[in-house]
Amino acid sequence: MRLKLGCAAVLALSAVVGTAVDEAPQIPITMRAGYRVLEVDLHSHTRFADGFLSPFDLVLHARRKSLDALAITDHNILFPALMGRAFSRAVGGPTILVGEEVTTRDYHVHAIGLTSRIDASLPLDRVIDEAHAQGAVMIAAHPVKRFWPLLVPARHKFDAAEVMHPIAFGDRRGGGWSWEEMRTYYEDARAEGHNLGAVAASDYHFFSPLGVVRTLVFAESDGEEHILEALRERRTVVFDANGNAYGNAALMDALRREPYQMRAQDYNYRGNGALDVLFRTLGFMALAGVFLFGRRRVRTG
Ligand SMILES: [Zn+2]
Ligand SMILES: [Zn+2]
Repeated sequence: MRLKLGCAAVLALSAVVGTAVDEAPQIPITMRAGYRVLEVDLHSHTRFADGFLSPFDLVLHARRKSLDALAITDHNILFPALMGRAFSRAVGGPTILVGEEVTTRDYHVHAIGLTSRIDASLPLDRVIDEAHAQGAVMIAAHPVKRFWPLLVPARHKFDAAEVMHPIAFGDRRGGGWSWEEMRTYYEDARAEGHNLGAVAASDYHFFSPLGVVRTLVFAESDGEEHILEALRERRTVVFDANGNAYGNAALMDALRREPYQMRAQDYNYRGNGALDVLFRTLGFMALAGVFLFGRRRVRTG
């Protein structure tokens, strides 16, 4: 029993030390057209809605994925995003944008940069106006055909629409959602003169990788206000699975002249330094010890 407790203590110590020495890779600063190029995921969920991770784990995961910024956008609640932002500030993580996916049967829309929760029972016009009054940007989330009856008449009021989403890779989520319909929503709106910004977002819940698709945001810095300003001014570029670009024409030109290499998607951290190796080894041994000594106790008792 004492051995098992000792192993559990070493395991806990290893986890704490291992986390403390786990340094995130430094993100290089890249400039294009006079702006810093940021890789931003504008759509993610926590366990307080229908996601899997806590807001804290989501922040750490975004850092591992080399995201400059992440919007936490749970369904009709704001506090997970506020928790994530406070935690990220404390640990020096990526910029967290406070969002809400205002979710109804007839549409999903993102308000990003909110200070207080928006009531999803309001009519869509009012939802958009209230978000704008708070200084937030409004994004039409995965605007597939079943949401068009309300999202098409409102498209002149949105700041942006999701053009790229993991459903482009074939995950139809059983509801018959089609990526082509999302793209059509954006392209039709642009063709009819509505100045919608382009957004790519992973709609992260659990299985699809966080940041698997990202919006390139061209901002003065990675600060919250500068990112929101860039979104308001439509300074974004998005690439689809075939490498086609969408978004701000001048910035797409700048990227054609001087292409931008997206960061690696994989978490390629393998541990460096003696402390990391020592506590990783101790941690595995202690874990084995907990099972070993735990089992023997059951068998003899
Ligand atoms: Zn949604
Ligand atoms: Zn969502």
